[in-house]
Amino acid sequence: MIAYFVMECAVDSRIPTYSGGLGILAGDTLQSFADLEVPAVCITLLWKNGFTDQKLSNDGTQLDSIQKWDVERYMQPTNIKIKMPLGDKDITITAYKYTIESTKGDNEIEAYFLTPDVPENDHETRKICDRLYVEGGLTRLKQEIILGIGGYEMLKALNYRPFLYHINESHSAFLIASLMKDMNDLNRVKSRVVFTTHTPIPAAFDRFEMKDVAGMLGRYCDKQVLYYIYQEKLGDNDELNLSWLAIKNAKNVAAVSRKHKFVSEQIFEGYRLKYVTNGIHHIKWASPHHKMLYAKYIKGWEEDPNLLRDVACIPDNEFAQAHIISKEALVEMVNSESDVSFIPEDFTIAMAKRITHYKRNNLILSNPNKLIEIAEKKGNIQIIFAGKAHPADSDGLAMIKSIHNASQYIASKTKKIKIAFLENYNIHKAGIILAGVDLWLNNPVRPLEASGTSGMKASLNGVPNFSVLDGWWLEACMEGINGWGIGPKPAWTDLSYSDDVQDSNDIYGKLEFNILDLYYKNFSDYLKIMKMAVSTIAPHFNTHRMVSEYVTDLYLTGIIMCYLEHEKAGVCDM
Ligand SMILES: *Cc1c(COP(=O)(O)O)cnc(C)c1O
Repeated sequence: MIAYFVMECAVDSRIPTYSGGLGILAGDTLQSFADLEVPAVCITLLWKNGFTDQKLSNDGTQLDSIQKWDVERYMQPTNIKIKMPLGDKDITITAYKYTIESTKGDNEIEAYFLTPDVPENDHETRKICDRLYVEGGLTRLKQEIILGIGGYEMLKALNYRPFLYHINESHSAFLIASLMKDMNDLNRVKSRVVFTTHTPIPAAFDRFEMKDVAGMLGRYCDKQVLYYIYQEKLGDNDELNLSWLAIKNAKNVAAVSRKHKFVSEQIFEGYRLKYVTNGIHHIKWASPHHKMLYAKYIKGWEEDPNLLRDVACIPDNEFAQAHIISKEALVEMVNSESDVSFIPEDFTIAMAKRITHYKRNNLILSNPNKLIEIAEKKGNIQIIFAGKAHPADSDGLAMIKSIHNASQYIASKTKKIKIAFLENYNIHKAGIILAGVDLWLNNPVRPLEASGTSGMKASLNGVPNFSVLDGWWLEACMEGINGWGIGPKPAWTDLSYSDDVQDSNDIYGKLEFNILDLYYKNFSDYLKIMKMAVSTIAPHFNTHRMVSEYVTDLYLTGIIMCYLEHEKAGVCDM
């Protein structure tokens, strides 16, 4: 059994326990575990208040409110309560269970959402896991202790005996302290731990002062244990870095794309990483119309997404028709949610993702006059923006405002560009947007996009990707054949940052001279690119392939080591 630990998990579009890529990836991974019959169980946290319920005021200010949702409606209480020390208090945590059923309905994976919100706890403790990614203070530390240590103890209480613990992003790394307590042998601990690092930004790694960690954990495990697993004696004011804790104690470590492996090896000097490029669950992310099309022409694509290579066998008119129907659904959503009126005939671009500095969500609007000039020369452009900024991220909030202001400026100058901002981006809206647009835009600062997955979802639905050559796209892009790159193509080991001006010029240049002409004057060639997006990307960039690679490249070695250990101890007859 694999124990999959993750801070956020998106299992259902009605359950807002996620903020972005990490949570979506976790949900897709669990679905592939279920489909491929990989024995696994998931531990995550129950975010009672969701991430944020987003509204935009008339001047483009994001207004946040709590995303209330009814836990008991979607999840089953386990009624198991465990006690754990946290600082001076003994707290109680419980878990709600959500069952992920395989696509065929013949297998299940269980996910446990932990919460300290039980009557046994005081008011302050009950609220620890209200909100995802709180900044500063000790709440984040408490959340991560509940995830790592509470999760470990919860699995024991539920009678799971996992072979391997998969730490997905370092938030759950405190579980290493629990393993050490139980096994008392660092090499044995390591053979049981797999770590996936998900960010190439060291400033984003979670760090806590040693005195705070010792203060919180002191009654669970001795300071000496922490020094021992950290392989370093830290002073009271020194910081314990969870990513380093995880990497030092994992037998196998994975980055989430080939580029990210090289970036991470520079950060974790002296360590060698493997990489398993992220994926998406192809059945979840195909639009209803594409699902029907694939079911008709590519029998077996659900069990084996590799077969999507054969998209050429779908007649052009039917392939185009699935896109048009998806686009009409999108236009309807845009027109009902905003005061612009989109039409299905016009070329439509989406920039939909979390809104934060490095994603540069507003880059395409950085030179509005240039964009206006392009639309007047080459044809109408419709642009959809969607995404939430973390309520404490001032750069992200400012970015939303700048999108709002640039949109107003453009609207005052031309009728040839229409821009809509859709509030409350979520899984459901993502599905409609990414299948219905004509171009999926993604322009984060290179090399900060560890993998990215949204472009894979678009490609699966025949929507070409127009993206910075970073993360997964550096592996997948065939320029002008399955989509387009933005900015220079870096070497694997090149860690230089993108240049905003260079990248925006490239966006404008390719829109003007390649993409719009193709779309408006030579649609049959555009359609070829749409088909190539499916056939060259969907077969590889999916979670079925990703999970298979995890099993062979990362889990199996741990399992074999565990077997050898049992064999040596004479307790195993596998
Ligand atoms: C896929 C997805 C993401 C991740 O998008 P990236 O562009 O890869 O960061 C975030 N949010 C939602 C709702 C998604 O569906």
